[in-house]
Amino acid sequence: MALSTDERTRYHRQLNLPEFGLAGQERLKAARILIVGTGGLGCPAALYLAAAGVGTIGLVDFDRVELSNLQRQVLFTSDDVGRLKVEAARERLLALNPEVSVLAHAVALRAHNVREVLKDYDIVLDGSDRLGTRYLVGDACVLLGKPLVTAAIHRFEGQAMTCVPSQGPCYRCLFPQGPEGEVESCAEAGVLGVLPGVLGALQASEAVKLATGVGTPLSGRLLTYDALDLRFTELPVSRRVDCPVCGEHPRITAPQEMPGILEAAATRTAQRLSPRDLRDLMNTSRTDAPAFVLIDVREPWEFHARHLEQARNIPLGELEGRLAEWAGEGNPVFICRSGQRSLVACALALRAGIGSPGHLEGGLLAWGDQIDPNFTM
Ligand SMILES: [Zn+2]
Repeated sequence: MALSTDERTRYHRQLNLPEFGLAGQERLKAARILIVGTGGLGCPAALYLAAAGVGTIGLVDFDRVELSNLQRQVLFTSDDVGRLKVEAARERLLALNPEVSVLAHAVALRAHNVREVLKDYDIVLDGSDRLGTRYLVGDACVLLGKPLVTAAIHRFEGQAMTCVPSQGPCYRCLFPQGPEGEVESCAEAGVLGVLPGVLGALQASEAVKLATGVGTPLSGRLLTYDALDLRFTELPVSRRVDCPVCGEHPRITAPQEMPGILEAAATRTAQRLSPRDLRDLMNTSRTDAPAFVLIDVREPWEFHARHLEQARNIPLGELEGRLAEWAGEGNPVFICRSGQRSLVACALALRAGIGSPGHLEGGLLAWGDQIDPNFTM
C-alpha cells in the first residue's frame, strides 16, 4: 500500500529505521489488528498502533466508560463517562491519526461469534480482564491460525506472551486450565494505574513486529514485569504435546464457552442464595445453633474496608489450604464483591468433598442494593 506525502511526513521517524523503512510502513498500513478489550491494556496498545500507522484497528468491548476507569484507560476523558468505550475510543484514535480505519465491535465475545469477529484480522491482542474471554480468544486464534499477543495485569505485576500458531506455545499451553486466582478482575484486586500502560505498550510493540516481520517475537517466553522492584523476568514456555487445543490430539476443535470447568460444575451444584435468603439464614442462626459458616473470600484489604459482622475472611487464593478451619461448624456460605469469586470458592469446596456449599448471588453489591443501603464498598 503506497504512502501519501502526509503519511511519509507523519511516519518519518519509522521510515528512517533501516530495518523498518518504507516496506515496513507499507506492511503496517496493510495490517489489520484486533484489540480485545478497550481497558487498561487495550487503551495504550490502541494509541500506539494508531499512531504508528496500522491501517485497520478493530476494538471489541461492550462496556461503557466509568469514572474509575480513567485512572488507567488513557483513551478516555472525563467527558466520556457513560459512553460506549469502543465509540469514545474510535473517536480519539481517529483524532490522533485520521489515516487509519478503526472498527468498533460493541459485542461480548462468545463461542457463537468469536470466529466471525476475528476472521478478518491478521493479528489479535488480548487485553480482556475476563478469564473466559482469554480462553475463548486463545483457542479461536489457534483454530483460525492467527498470532495472539496476550497480556495480563494484577496489582503491581504484569505478564505478556506472544503465541504464534503452529510455531510456539498457545495460551492453553501456558495455562492448561484456569488458574482460579485469576478469576478476580482488576476491578476487585486493584491495579497500579501505570502498570497496564507498560504491558499494553509491549503488546503494541509485539504486534508491530509481527505485522512487519521485524525482530523476534516474544514466543515461547513468558515475560513478567514487577513494577514494585522494577524487574523483568522471562520464563521459558514450551508447547505441550497434550495441549487440548494445539497438541497432538486436540479435544477442542471449535470455540467453546469457558466459564471454567470448575465454575460450570459449581453453577449446577452450589446453593445459590439471594440477599434475602442470606438475611433470613442469618436471622435464624441467631436463635438456633449456627448451621452455616459465612466466609468472605475477598482480599484482606477489601474485607477490612467493609464486611458483614458474622463473616470471617479467607481470601480465595488461600481457601484450598484452609478448608479444615471450619470443619464441623456447618456448611460454608461464601461471599465476595460480585458473586464471581464466591462461585469459584464453592467449586473448590465441592472438589474437596464439602457437600453443600452456598454462595451469595450478586455478592455484597447485591446485598447493598437490596438489604442494607448503608453497606457501601
Ligand atoms: Zn497449546
